Amino acid sequence: MTSDLKPASAALVLFSGGQDSTVCLAWALANYDHVETVGFDYGQRHAVELQQRPRVLSALRQSLADAAKLGDDTVLPLPALATISDTALTRDSEITFSAAGLPTTFVPGRNLLFLTYAAALAYRRGIATLVGGMCETDFSGYPDCRNDTLQSLQRTLSLGLDRMVTIETPLMFIDKAGTWALADALGGAALTELIIEETHTCYLGDRSHRHAWGYGCGTCPACDLRAKGYAAWRLSVAT
Ligand code: ZN
Repeated sequence: MTSDLKPASAALVLFSGGQDSTVCLAWALANYDHVETVGFDYGQRHAVELQQRPRVLSALRQSLADAAKLGDDTVLPLPALATISDTALTRDSEITFSAAGLPTTFVPGRNLLFLTYAAALAYRRGIATLVGGMCETDFSGYPDCRNDTLQSLQRTLSLGLDRMVTIETPLMFIDKAGTWALADALGGAALTELIIEETHTCYLGDRSHRHAWGYGCGTCPACDLRAKGYAAWRLSVAT
């Protein structure tokens, strides 16, 4: 749907092509009448994620019962982020952990920027709800992924746009095993297989090594987290 007339229940999903945002998109399709997606091109080193985005969207359209609700996709270029940031995601430096315990992949305030751009786009699209895969249980402890931060931002965006903005974060309090379980509950084997085959998480952009949980180098923090979550979920299903 491209007119200004949206169903009362509409959501804009921050969709990167990764596992978490794919589960969030399936969640939104199960809970809203009309769902649009937004992605950001900020010179991330794992640009393979951007290449996988349309593949994941296409696969979702074919496999999900709610796919008819899926509307427009927008990719916003944010090259300023790569200029500002001096991190492992945009440079070929090694991924390590800083003294503060944050991985050097951390882009300061990245999610605040993403959500602010998403809110501006949603305003123009007549959509009041944003859906994001931010998660407090994530290993990295990104301060802009915390629930308190997003509650505060939700209020700021609502005030600044003079229109009620709701930020939904269905993964906020579940771990990676729980994310796999949620995918299974939302779309069954069709969705978990799609996540394994098409979604990308690896920080190094490796799509040449296939594991039970999907493609990746198998050793970077993102692969490690995804692999452990998958193993824990399979164990919980088997017992
Ligand atoms: Zn990796």
